[in-house]
Amino acid sequence: MKSSELYALAAKLMPGGVSSPVRAIRPYPFYTLAGKGSRIKTADGQYLIDCCLAYGPLLLGHAHPEIRAAITAQLGNGWLYGTPTPLEPEMAGVVTGDHPSMEMVRFVSTGGEATMSALRAARGFTGKSDIVKVEGGFHGAHDAVLVKAGSGATTLGVPDSAGVLPDLARHTLQVPYNDPEALEGILAKHRDVAAFILEPVLGNIGPVLPEKGYLAEVRSITKAHDVLLIFDEVITGYRLGIGGAQALYGIRPDLTTLGKVLGGGLPIGAFGGRREIMACIAPSGPVYQAGTFSGNPLSLAAGAATLKYLHGLPEAYRRLDEMSRAIGESLPRERRGSFVRLGSMFKYFFRANPPRDYRQAKESDTGAFGEFWKGMLARGIFLPPSQFETNFLSVVHTDEDTTAISEAYRACLS
Ligand SMILES: *Cc1c(COP(=O)(O)O)cnc(C)c1O
Repeated sequence: MKSSELYALAAKLMPGGVSSPVRAIRPYPFYTLAGKGSRIKTADGQYLIDCCLAYGPLLLGHAHPEIRAAITAQLGNGWLYGTPTPLEPEMAGVVTGDHPSMEMVRFVSTGGEATMSALRAARGFTGKSDIVKVEGGFHGAHDAVLVKAGSGATTLGVPDSAGVLPDLARHTLQVPYNDPEALEGILAKHRDVAAFILEPVLGNIGPVLPEKGYLAEVRSITKAHDVLLIFDEVITGYRLGIGGAQALYGIRPDLTTLGKVLGGGLPIGAFGGRREIMACIAPSGPVYQAGTFSGNPLSLAAGAATLKYLHGLPEAYRRLDEMSRAIGESLPRERRGSFVRLGSMFKYFFRANPPRDYRQAKESDTGAFGEFWKGMLARGIFLPPSQFETNFLSVVHTDEDTTAISEAYRACLS
């Protein structure tokens, strides 16, 4: 069946025809039959260079032979036991070794579960009720973080989804990214804040990069107010390098959440941090957290193979950075938008200057983006279908791929 036919079926049986809203594309999304290396094959017989990479997890591309071998080996031994497995202490050792701020870690099944649990741990540990997040920061689809900023006069959050209780949303306060004064102001005023959670590099509207010194100021402000700092590194973890954004910028958060790349393409999340905070998690402490599929052997096997690959080839990160630089440098000089990149994350914003926060990113011309996106797809390049989702590169993208991406950019931007 072609994509249009599959979508006609799905639209009758599934809300919006999709399993997650970002996948909806008008008039219908293409359906994928297979992925190999940097490419996917669609139900319509098209081969596309993939710069969406499942919205981040596939740092090693599709069906990487080493990950595949690890999954296959585990499959032969079964794939779920409900008991501890040797993979858990092994993987915990690698993750804590790579992130000195993570003295202990718990594995869960998704990034959203990781942030939900980290926020609960922060509240349980501090005994405080409120959390502060960054406007436009995305931390998964659970109630505490499906919150947007209230009207100008108030910093109290309001629900960003039907079904989220206003009573709950007002415990989630928001500050603009790259604005340490706003954070200082809100923490001076609100005394019941358990944690400040942020993506150290905003990945879900961009990337939007931290200005010089911002993350260090965030660290000292939270410390001064006795508020826990949670780095949501679900995108940046293992993508910006081993040790993620916290290693890149030299910051030690109290808690960290991981996901995406950590599972090599299988479902995973993890949260960890200071030992005394993590000791509050059940069964060693009173903060309840549990999951049937937590630490499941397939995800850990795929994740362990991914981390082994990255540890064995640290220069991969430099090459990824060079690839995004090459794409940026190939763009036409005369252009109306701005190109933002960091390592294997990049984006062209239809806005004159790189945005520094959510409000600026929102000024981008999404109509122009839509036309551009279709043009790129017609030229065989699959970018995430939103101005506000980061494009990704993988270690298996070749120089020919980046040349093809650059040529498509030039054609679509001129
Ligand atoms: C994707 C993402 C999440 C949610 O992860 P899921 O596995 O989709 O639940 C949380 N935080 C950030 C920064 C993300 O990019």
